[in-house]
Amino acid sequence: MSPDLRLVLHLQDLDNQIRELQREISALPKHIAEIEKTLDVHTRKWEADKAALQANQRERKSLEGDIQMQEQKVSRLRDQMMSAKTNEQYRAFQKEIEYCQNEIRKMEDRILALMEESEPLEANVRKAEAALKEERQRVESEKAAARERTAQDKRAVEELQRQREEVVRQLKPAVYAAYEKIRAKRGGIAVAEASDGRCSACHIALRPQFFQDLRHLEQGVMFCETCGRILYYQPPVPIEDPAADTTAPAS
Ligand SMILES: [Zn+2]
Repeated sequence: MSPDLRLVLHLQDLDNQIRELQREISALPKHIAEIEKTLDVHTRKWEADKAALQANQRERKSLEGDIQMQEQKVSRLRDQMMSAKTNEQYRAFQKEIEYCQNEIRKMEDRILALMEESEPLEANVRKAEAALKEERQRVESEKAAARERTAQDKRAVEELQRQREEVVRQLKPAVYAAYEKIRAKRGGIAVAEASDGRCSACHIALRPQFFQDLRHLEQGVMFCETCGRILYYQPPVPIEDPAADTTAPAS
């Protein structure tokens, strides 16, 4: 492998790491926005349940007041009924009392219905309150972790950039220019391995003579004749036969 190719491979490795870190740096605010949005939805649901519960309680209270008023009216009517002069007057009072009592029963039924409705609401509000408290803490700690992670990533990127400058300084300007041009055109990947006689990026077979030359490259770099990426050849690592392991102690 030529020294230029070695440097190019190092450069691609650094660029891959930088790209991965930058991807993470830009993904973190999105993640935070998502968990904050979920928290917001849960908070609004809790507020709606709380408002429904409050409306329920208000209606009960107002009904209780109305019942009291009706009861006072009934007791007043009873007093008046005592001094009724005629049967007709007596029946009129009686009818009015019945009407009020009927109203009271209707309101009592409504109160019972409201009490039934409020039970699950109260349970929901209580549960949501506890869950929200936990969720808020979790969101806060995730935000803190994301800030910490972002700061770490940025420091790592700076360090990689320094190493990159060092590599670029050693690289022939023409090779570096070619590398950057291909990287911009090929989605950040300017280098591809040639294996089984093919470019591993575009999968097009290399000419046998070209592949031979690449295998014995001692200077400069070679470009895939199809996709233009810088190619490198990695000789296969011989697979060791475990049975032939002579370092194992004899038993
Ligand atoms: Zn190719």
